[in-house]
Parts: sequence; structure tokens; C-alpha cells
Amino acid sequence: MVSVEKLAIHGGPPVRTKPWVSKYIGSEALGAEEKARVLQVLEKKRIFRYLPDGLETSEAAALEEEYKRFVGTDYALAVNSGTSALICALIAVGVGPGHEVIIPAYTWVATAAAVAVVGAVPVLAEVDSSLTLDPQDLEAKITSRTKAVIVVHMRGISAAMDEILAVAQKHNLMVIEDVAQANGGTYRGRPLGSLGHVGCFSLQQSKVIAAGEGGMLVTNSEELWQRAVLYHDGAGYQFRFLERKIPAFPGQNYRLTELQAALSLGQLEKMPDLVRATRENKRKLVERLRNQEKIELSPVFGTERDLGVSLIFYVADEEKARLTAQALTAEGIPAFQVWDRRARDQHIYVNWEFLMAKRDPWGRSYPWSLAEGSSVDYSPETCPQTLALLSRAVQIHLNHLVTEEDLRDIEAAINKVAFYLL
Ligand SMILES: *Cc1c(COP(=O)(O)O)cnc(C)c1O
Repeated sequence: MVSVEKLAIHGGPPVRTKPWVSKYIGSEALGAEEKARVLQVLEKKRIFRYLPDGLETSEAAALEEEYKRFVGTDYALAVNSGTSALICALIAVGVGPGHEVIIPAYTWVATAAAVAVVGAVPVLAEVDSSLTLDPQDLEAKITSRTKAVIVVHMRGISAAMDEILAVAQKHNLMVIEDVAQANGGTYRGRPLGSLGHVGCFSLQQSKVIAAGEGGMLVTNSEELWQRAVLYHDGAGYQFRFLERKIPAFPGQNYRLTELQAALSLGQLEKMPDLVRATRENKRKLVERLRNQEKIELSPVFGTERDLGVSLIFYVADEEKARLTAQALTAEGIPAFQVWDRRARDQHIYVNWEFLMAKRDPWGRSYPWSLAEGSSVDYSPETCPQTLALLSRAVQIHLNHLVTEEDLRDIEAAINKVAFYLL
């Protein structure tokens, strides 16, 4: 398609003047259902989960039941954030001082922080063009200290679980799935979170469904679940189980309130429709962009492995990515360069300050300083493949409200910018 109009960044008319859709999904769909559920909690005057009578009738218990059903696992534990779900999962699988945990170099900083917080050393591995963990680099980063891997289903894209699980099995690693950005996603028909030993979800506002803050942990192992329960509630060992199968150890307080659980129940009911819409929009969008030879898409984009919560495409180099993002934004489609060196985006390992400096909260260097600590080092050169990909990646937020007209506008804007700049 040849456009005769000048680019908007050069003073031409923009493709679109209507505002772009919000980056939020679940919270955009908040309505009467959530309101009714939250009001009901207030009317019951029961805002704390663990009241002595009626443990089974709390909103949080109901949310766990719904998650078990939806993910298809035997156990679930509601917690107060995705970060606390990750911390509980690491404790559950036995990660601690002296261990290394492999994580992708592109994920929210919480994935790295959770590992350090439990006293283990995060080891960075590359992502591939799917923007999820590169199974080959995962295997290359394994040492005798590696205890676990956190697989992150980044930007709604399911990681290559067949390959990752094969590597993990071969090397006897525990597998934690970080599903914070892909709640509702699947891999070969199986719900994300159910493929590894433990799955972790976030219900923070920028995730697929949202309760402001909140999290969920799922597993098929009774022992791992009990360990997570003990850690999420310092007194959990007293009353949560009919039969405790593990010795007591100290825990934190990562409990979820009844208000957040009620809100989450309302959101969870809406999730199938939200996700059906985001998936369908993305499939159509990838179809529209397939013939645009000046941009590259990963083969997994637009497939079952893509929840459709954003559009990411690659251009030839970093400078072109910067220009493309600016030009698209001027055309009325807000876009950004995934690795913008000035933005200090906390999804990219080079911006994880404490990790780069190996710094703990006390200004020392725990756990890296442990005698049995590893020789792991970090620098901007640690994951060159990841930086090379992210520097030439351009991202546009999508949600369930994207219309055919919006899809047409993205296509037109990308074609126009590609014609002049790529
Ligand atoms: C948001 C996020 C988390 C942390 O979730 P919170 O609920 O904000 O603690 C962890 N991992 C990834 C990949 C995330 O995007």
C-alpha cells in the first residue's frame, strides 16, 4: 500500500485522531458484578479470610476453588501479590541459600527480586524472538547449584514449555511458571500455570484480570502447597490443614483480603470473554500484517501461544525502532521501543540496579557473598541476544476493546511508516 500523505511526524495528517485503547484489560471491564460482590462482603462484615468459623466459606477460599477449576490443578493458594506468589513458590520448591535460579533476562524485576529475597542467586538466560526463555540458553546456564527455573510467559506469550520441561527434567530442576502477564493463556490446550511444578499469577491492575493487588499460586503437589501455605501465613500451620504433612517453619503474611478476593471472583467470571476478544483481535491483526515485509513477527505471535495483550514487532535496528515508535505515536497509535536506553524500564535486566550491583537491603552483598554463593556475574553484556532483540522491538498495547476500525488504523499506520522509514 502506497500512501500519498506525508507522515504525521513530518507535518502530515495523522492516520487517527481518536484516542487509542487503554493498556488495561480486566479493570476496564469492572462493573456491577464486582460491585455487588464487594458490597456483599461489606454487608457480611467479614473482611478477613481466616475467621475461626467458616474457613471454607470465605471469598478467598471460593477464589481458590475457581482457580483450581480454571487451571485444572489440585491445589491453589490466594496471596496478596504476584511477587508473594513467586516467593512462596520458591520456598515451596525448596530454593534457598546456596542455590541458583535461572530466570529470563526480560521479565518484570519482581521475578529477579523474589529469587534474591529467598537467599538464592538469580542467573540470567536469554529470551528468543518469542520474548520468552530460550530453551538452549536455559540449558547452557545450568550449573551444579541450579535448583529451579522461573519460566515467564511474557507479554501474554506462552514460553516453549515442551522444550523447557525436557531440559528441566533432564537436569532435575524445579519449574515455576510466572503467569503474571499471561493469566488465561494456554500451551497446547493446557492452561498456563499447570505445566510446571508451581504456577504464579498476579491480580495487579496492569494484568489480564485485576483486583488492584492480589496473587494466586497453583500446584498439583500437596507438599508444595502446604509449604507455600506455611510461608504465606506465619500461623498457617496451626489451623489451615486437617492433616499437616510437613514440619513447621517461620512464615510471612501474604494473605489476601476478602474484598480483593470478591473483586477477583467477579473478574475471573469475565476472563473467558476478555481473553476470547484479545486473542481474536491479535489473530486478525497478525493476519493483516503478514504481508508487510519490512517488519518481522515471531512465528508464535497470533497463534494459540499468544493471548493478544500487545503487538510487538521487530524492525532492522535500534535507530529504526526508535523512529518507528515516534512515527506511529504521531500517527495516533501510541507505540514504544521495547528497550529504550533512556527509559530505565524495569522489565529489562540492565535496569535491575540491585542485581547489577549485587546489593542487598543492608548495603552488603547477600546472597552473592555467601561462601557457597556462586561466581555469577552481571553486566550489560550478560544477555546480548536479548538486548539485540529488545532494542529493535516496537510495542503497541492491545486490549479486549480493540475494534475492526482500530485494527485497520494500526495496519494503515504501520504501512505508512514502513513506506517512508523502513
Ligand atoms: C507484575 C509481574 C509480577 C509481580 O506481580 P505483582 O502482583 O505486581 O507483585 C511478576 N512477574 C511478572 C512477569 C509481572 O509482570
